[in-house]
Amino acid sequence: MSRIYPTCMMLLLLFTVTAIGYDDGDRPGYRDTPIIPGQKWRVHDSQRPWPTVVDPGAGSLPVPPPADAVVLLGKGDLSAWTSGGKDARWANVDGAMEARPGSGNITTRESFGDIQLHVEFRTPPEVKGSSQGRGNSGVFLMNRYELQILDSYQNPTYSDGQCAAFYGQWPPLVNACRGPGQWQSYDIFFVAPRFGDDGSLLSPARATVVHNGVLVHNDREFLGPTSHRSKPSYSKHPEMAPISLQDHGNPIRYRNIWLRRLDEGSEKDSQ
Ligand code: MG
Repeated sequence: MSRIYPTCMMLLLLFTVTAIGYDDGDRPGYRDTPIIPGQKWRVHDSQRPWPTVVDPGAGSLPVPPPADAVVLLGKGDLSAWTSGGKDARWANVDGAMEARPGSGNITTRESFGDIQLHVEFRTPPEVKGSSQGRGNSGVFLMNRYELQILDSYQNPTYSDGQCAAFYGQWPPLVNACRGPGQWQSYDIFFVAPRFGDDGSLLSPARATVVHNGVLVHNDREFLGPTSHRSKPSYSKHPEMAPISLQDHGNPIRYRNIWLRRLDEGSEKDSQ
């Protein structure tokens, strides 16, 4: 009894601490994480207000690439993507690319800086799981800055982790999600961060994001590379980096991904 009692107390303490830290009831999220720099909310704060739901309307997809676009995914051709230097291990299904749970993230072979990026995605038609376990993926700009993808149609989760959030940093201005199995779009206008020779941050990464035709981030700063349950912070990285798509264990589909390089255009303008 005397040996069992301390063990039981430790398990009870562990359970209590876990229960205080994570709320998986009506408001999933955390209350034991750091305050986000410059904000009054904690990282993944369960009490942060949820964005207002806005029906984006029917929309018109797919959006064809403009003449100067780099096509990263057309008709399910996965050749622009790699899994650790080898061919991408995601599947070509019905002309779209589907995440194969457990296969890992995929990454573009090319690197990019400032871009206009168009992405079409579809969360699984069959609803499984809840909160962060339901239709999770993500677009990692420069392989670091995640624009979250989640089935956030009537799926409560913490605000800075819902669909179109800068994960762990900023919720979208509104929730403009379509339902499970419906094609959706992101149009992302991304400005890469600039660093000094000494590694100091000269200007942060920024993005304007349109989700299903609805503005959800208006020239918003990333506070640093995406992290989970911790404060983001910058460290110097290359001017160009690949885009990656997250395998979070759910069979998300992507199609019609294209981008326009903006850094080359600005160089021409300055000549
Ligand atoms: Mg994600």
